[in-house]
Amino acid sequence: MPAPNSPAVRRQHLLQQLAALGDLRPGSLVQTYRKCGKPNCACAQSDQHKHGPYWMLTRKVGRTTRTRAIPAAAVEATRAQIAECQRLRQLVAELIEASEQACQAQLEAARNASETTADAQENSAHSSSSPPSKPNSPAS
Ligand SMILES: [Zn+2]
Repeated sequence: MPAPNSPAVRRQHLLQQLAALGDLRPGSLVQTYRKCGKPNCACAQSDQHKHGPYWMLTRKVGRTTRTRAIPAAAVEATRAQIAECQRLRQLVAELIEASEQACQAQLEAARNASETTADAQENSAHSSSSPPSKPNSPAS
């Protein structure tokens, strides 16, 4: 039976969190100010009178930066989507780590089993990894 904090259990928890992820998008939000181009507009006279702020989502794709306009009403949702994307990257990194440790633990368990007697090997093969009592059955 795996310990509560074993790599195999952590891996399972991470997979559950991955499955529960919401909308996500990569990139970062930046504010920009623009000149409209009309010669009579105040923005033509001074940078302080530029129009804005406008929200843009920028994202590096290869060597180029892709930019998309984000309506002000969608800024909050976009922030949440960006945070969710960062969470995905974090979860993936943790999943790779936990899975790597779980794989290594399996190798070491197999090596330990092969070093014991034939009887012990047979017993461990029959008991497998399932505990005698179901984990979600009430304790008392
Ligand atoms: Zn203008």
